[in-house]
Amino acid sequence: MSGLWDQPGVPHKGWQCIDAYDNGEATETCGICGREEIRYVHVMEHPDYPERLDAGCVCAEKMTDDYVGPRQREARMKSKAGRRVRWLTRKWRTSSKGNPFLNTDGFNIAIFQYKNGWKKGKWGFKVGDDFGNKAFASIEEAKMGAFEELWEHLADE
Ligand SMILES: [Zn+2]
Repeated sequence: MSGLWDQPGVPHKGWQCIDAYDNGEATETCGICGREEIRYVHVMEHPDYPERLDAGCVCAEKMTDDYVGPRQREARMKSKAGRRVRWLTRKWRTSSKGNPFLNTDGFNIAIFQYKNGWKKGKWGFKVGDDFGNKAFASIEEAKMGAFEELWEHLADE
């Protein structure tokens, strides 16, 4: 046994996961057991504990007494990471205006170059009817921006 599980005053149940993110690789140690090397971080909060803790999936399950939710979050983060890796090498097509586009997940995703204003020459994206209103230095960066935007849309559903 190690980490915070054995420490007095650390609640074992009743935690809530308030955020989750992907570190890109396993760079962090689970803040509660101190053992797991974690890539996917579940950020945990408890009303009777002063700090937030970064936990791995297994500890997040114990802390919330929920053996479904954390696993789903973890699977979702893994799926996102997998798709992000393949995103740029997907078969982007070229519109009649010469812009790269991709139809996926029910969305038309288009990359375009701003013609006017301070964004002139930079690249933007459109996901469905949503113009991200962001400017990127390269097409690749705009495509990655579109990926994040798409993911937000999928998460809302
Ligand atoms: Zn842990």
